[in-house]
Amino acid sequence: MTARVTGDALQEAREILLLAPRVLVLTGAGISAESGVPTFRGPGGLWKEHRPEAVATPEAFRRDPRLVWEWYAWRREIILRCSPNAGHRVLAQWLLEREGTACLATQNVDGLHARAANGTGSPILELHGSLFRVRCTECRREAPHSDPVDTRTRESLPRCPACGGLLRPAVVWFGEPLPTDALDPAYRWAATADVTLVVGTSALVHPAAALPLVTRQRGGTILEVNPERSSLTSYARISLRGPAGEVLPALLGMREHRGV
Ligand code: NAD
Ligand code: ZN
Repeated sequence: MTARVTGDALQEAREILLLAPRVLVLTGAGISAESGVPTFRGPGGLWKEHRPEAVATPEAFRRDPRLVWEWYAWRREIILRCSPNAGHRVLAQWLLEREGTACLATQNVDGLHARAANGTGSPILELHGSLFRVRCTECRREAPHSDPVDTRTRESLPRCPACGGLLRPAVVWFGEPLPTDALDPAYRWAATADVTLVVGTSALVHPAAALPLVTRQRGGTILEVNPERSSLTSYARISLRGPAGEVLPALLGMREHRGV
């Protein structure tokens, strides 16, 4: 295992990716840190103001949907002021170039990968849902939603246009299963990928954190990009220690990618 971004480690990682027929990329909050989106566990992390169990559980929503919506509306506001960074952008471009031989699964709910892809049609598996989607608590209908939310009273919260039920953020809360339409294809990719590239995740939240280990169990390789050690570092063939916004362009950028 090589830590630090030396020219050799970078070159080796680039060759591994170039030669890999199938690649899964798994991203976490760290890839959005340079866009100004706080991570949960880092300094200034989003959990600081509220205990997670106070806001990110189905029980909390049943007890006080107004408070929960207030927290999510606040996160939406932060994120709408942020833009995709060089890491999101180069990844979107690289996925296009790989034409179906690579897949991106993210634990992020910030929608920045989709904004970077800008309708190019690259598949993005949002394992933990999205801050910009809602689901009806009655009929379970899901839809995109980025309108401002009036969180002054329980009565002013958004309602389902089909049945009038209370809408909730379509994100995965503690104790809830991951959406199978994202998790199942992510597992299939993990089980058939030659390489899983892990970017900006502390890899503490399961089952997403287990995906790279599925690749490794079948003889595949884990590559990691993270300025700090993570719980996957000791399983990674190469751990490139640096911020995603700098390391990913060097790792996946077109010039380097084509070796010119
Ligand atoms: P985490 O907060 O647990 O870990 C963040 C990781 O990113 C750390 O390992 C850290 O060292 C690394 N990191 C920090 N700056 C980086 C940079 N510039 N480049 C690369 N890596 C960097 O996040 P997680 O592992 O994704 O797990 C947290 C859970 O939090 C997930 O369920 C996710 O849904 C949620 N979350 C999402 C967002 C988001 O959508 N942006 C933000 C916070 C939390
Ligand atoms: Zn409904």
